[in-house]
Amino acid sequence: MAPALSPTRSHHVAVIGAGPAGLVAARELRREGHSVVVFEKQKQVGGTWIYTDEVESDPLSVDPTRSVVHSSVYRSLRINGTRECTGYRDFPFVVRSGVSRDPRRFPSHGEVLAYLKDFAKEFGIEEMVRFETEVVKVSPAAEEGIGKWRIESTEKEKKVRRDEIYDAVVVCNGHYVEPRHAEIPGISSWPGKEMHSHNYRIPEPFRDKVVVLIGNSSSAEDISRDIARVAKEVHVACRSNPADTFIKQTGYNNLWTHSMIESVHEDGSVVYQNGKTISVDIIMHCTGYKYHFPFLDTNGIVTVDDNRVGPLYKDVFPPAFAPWLSFIGIPWQVLPFPMFELQSKWIAGVLSGWIPLPSKEDMIMEIKTFYSTLEVQGIPKRYTHRMGNTQFEYDNWLASQCGCSETEEWRKEMCLANGVRKEANPETCRDEWDDHHLISQAYQDFSLYS
Ligand code: FAD
Repeated sequence: MAPALSPTRSHHVAVIGAGPAGLVAARELRREGHSVVVFEKQKQVGGTWIYTDEVESDPLSVDPTRSVVHSSVYRSLRINGTRECTGYRDFPFVVRSGVSRDPRRFPSHGEVLAYLKDFAKEFGIEEMVRFETEVVKVSPAAEEGIGKWRIESTEKEKKVRRDEIYDAVVVCNGHYVEPRHAEIPGISSWPGKEMHSHNYRIPEPFRDKVVVLIGNSSSAEDISRDIARVAKEVHVACRSNPADTFIKQTGYNNLWTHSMIESVHEDGSVVYQNGKTISVDIIMHCTGYKYHFPFLDTNGIVTVDDNRVGPLYKDVFPPAFAPWLSFIGIPWQVLPFPMFELQSKWIAGVLSGWIPLPSKEDMIMEIKTFYSTLEVQGIPKRYTHRMGNTQFEYDNWLASQCGCSETEEWRKEMCLANGVRKEANPETCRDEWDDHHLISQAYQDFSLYS
């Protein structure tokens, strides 16, 4: 174990991003007595939850010269977990009164944004945020002393470029902006239109069209149903489906699930592994996103390799720079907000010196062991940060480091019940449930914070 930093030291910390991760990071860092500056390139807090009709000029989002739109949220989006599970642990996402509030248990994106604004107001976060200020470069400033970081940022309005030194940097820039795409044999001569779900907003442009969505995530599920209301036909293709998959979705006369696309052709046809051939107007890649840190210059010490951000100890600290550089929100298939909260508490406590980290060598050893385990299990690199079933173990480990209570039993059970309900009834799972006893338990806990 490396010696902890001298206890309760206060540092000058830069947080990149004022989405759900950056907001709670700022709160926890300040609670620990650090001085915090949050850089946010947008005009307001909320990150991906700031819905916009705007989409990128390149519908596939591959052109490096495109102007990037941060949010991938579509107009009809309702959250995919219950509001009880979604909120931060100590600032429950309860129903609040107000003209444009959405009291549903699975509310729309606007309600999440309103909740994040409530959070920012409650804890006075905005006073720490420099809005419309984009971080363009983060690099070690060794000449300034060990662990120091140089942050170069540009402020949109005043067209000011700043160059500053910080003790530590916490990266909270979001991971749903830089799309991944499926490889499709024959695509260069296929005459139809291609796009990524990052640029999907409303179903109207798909009226009377034949559309293929590639993917099996929440986006593919939600968007296929959204579009099916107006499209001629909607086909969902997915590489994890068995080759003979061909299923008509109940409740629709125009929505099918297939195996993966085998090839596409000059005549506009799409051939699936299941042998079906369909003439298609639009292919939408609902194939997720890549980690992307365009501002980060670590001389190749921190890399993104096949969507593995590494090396990272516990998905947070690169050993070579720990604790002066950290990342929040890298794991996926998680309940994000509670995890962000615990990661933030851990980082804040490590920086102020009362939570020790292992030695660099031990951290590296643990990372290597973890990578070897993945390899032995045949898990591809790109799934390094997928948590799923192990998320609560991870959260509890973080909680133990910070002296916090473990994940509430109701939250675990509710999360599980939600997954089962979603699988069984994707159509109605946001409006019908029977886990009333878990809701009561959640609200009993929430009463501690009201
Ligand atoms: P973000 O919310 O993306 O915020 C990052 C912030 O960093 C942004 O404000 C951005 O402007 C800023 N930023 C980025 N780069 C810079 C820079 N260089 N300089 C300055 N500022 C910068 N989660 C759920 O819990 N429930 C759901 O139902 C759910 N549905 C989702 C649906 C979709 C379509 C997507 C894309 C995600 C969904 N998520 C959901 C996950 C969601 O991303 C997280 O809830 C959360 O928003 C991630 O928070 P974050 O702070 O890490 O990133």
